[in-house]
Amino acid sequence: MTAPPLRPKETYAIICPVKISHFLIAATAAAITSLSLTAPAAAQTAESADDWGDTIFLTFDDGPGGSNTDRILEVLDDNDAQATFFAIGENMQNDPLRTRQVLANGHAMGNHTWSHPDLTELTRLEVDQEIYSAAALLTAFGAEAPCFRPPYGATNAEVDEAIADAGLKKQMWNVDTRDWSRPGVDAIVDELLGATPGDVVLMHDGGGNRSQTVEALEIALPKLAEKGYDFGITPKCTPA
Ligand SMILES: [Zn+2]
Repeated sequence: MTAPPLRPKETYAIICPVKISHFLIAATAAAITSLSLTAPAAAQTAESADDWGDTIFLTFDDGPGGSNTDRILEVLDDNDAQATFFAIGENMQNDPLRTRQVLANGHAMGNHTWSHPDLTELTRLEVDQEIYSAAALLTAFGAEAPCFRPPYGATNAEVDEAIADAGLKKQMWNVDTRDWSRPGVDAIVDELLGATPGDVVLMHDGGGNRSQTVEALEIALPKLAEKGYDFGITPKCTPA
């Protein structure tokens, strides 16, 4: 099952070849010396409920997260759900098999920096290193999602400019399950069941024990499917 094609909210037409600094080369199996992230220009499109169809956009941050990621992949598979994963560069480097598995299961992987810093506290050079090192590794894995989520959702004008200069689209969220705080399965289920088409839902497969997240998905996804909803990759993270 796949969601119908969705029109992206916005696009960027930026070509940005970048030399990857030497310490990052070790991150990739292949010798990647340059990186080019491009997206074709397109007119802005009006947003309306029709753009989303019946699709809810599930997103999972901070992985790969060991067996948590395995269990989330299973429950997504059981519900014919596609999702967007914002994995952390160093976690992907440490767990290439799970990184490949996420992609092999048809999910998108977006850029969530190399080491998950608060980008608003870094210099522009440091911000670029965080973005481009993760981008290089994602490219090495064959991930094509042209989107970026800042750690903690922390941005400012300079960070936004760095994201755009890298040819990436900033993907935030509008439904926060607060699963990172382990509020209990029921609390996460309630947030999920409140989602409607077009919503971008924040969850986590990394950063600690995510059994509450898994159990909540097992309960909520079939109920959302009964309402006629499906689960897809966010428009901003869908390759052009
Ligand atoms: Zn994060």
